[in-house]
Amino acid sequence: MRKKPSQAFIALGSNLENPISQIQQAFDELKLLPGTHLISQSSLYKSAPVGRLDQPDFINAVALIETHLSPHELLNALLAIELRHGRVRESLNAPRTLDLDILLYDNLACRDEVLTLPHPRMSQRAFVLKPLMEIAPDCTIPGHGHIAELLTACNEQKLEQIMA
Ligand code: AMP
Repeated sequence: MRKKPSQAFIALGSNLENPISQIQQAFDELKLLPGTHLISQSSLYKSAPVGRLDQPDFINAVALIETHLSPHELLNALLAIELRHGRVRESLNAPRTLDLDILLYDNLACRDEVLTLPHPRMSQRAFVLKPLMEIAPDCTIPGHGHIAELLTACNEQKLEQIMA
């Protein structure tokens, strides 16, 4: 019998070359990953850049998938999608055509040279927590707490919902 699929939340972000369409296309590409179903997708949100301020605003969203890919297979598949979108790794916080991060993979905690789960910065970022809360209002981030409390703690970060 085939093993039950895992559930993973993916963060999507873009601030170059028509970010809205980059994110919409990325949702479609998640649907095409082997052994994977797109279960739900959040609205799109606009957020101000973090760290490096001299760059365009970002469009952000979160997807929930069910997948038979392992965490590392999923990471590699996401990196391949980023590359197809012309992603260039310039520096931390640099502008990007498409950024795809694994936020959570079941309740797995993992830390190796390529993958950290839960995603290390997700619990401090409104642009991740808000769309995540929209599709998973009861979500608890292992080691960090309930999403509603984490979101309250970063409510000074401005975020605009732009598309349902
Ligand atoms: P960035 O695209 O700047 O967010 O960085 C991507 C790199 O972070 C990838 O090459 C991964 O090896 C590493 N990484 C570590 N943990 C994660 C995660 N949970 N999701 C995505 N990338 C991760």
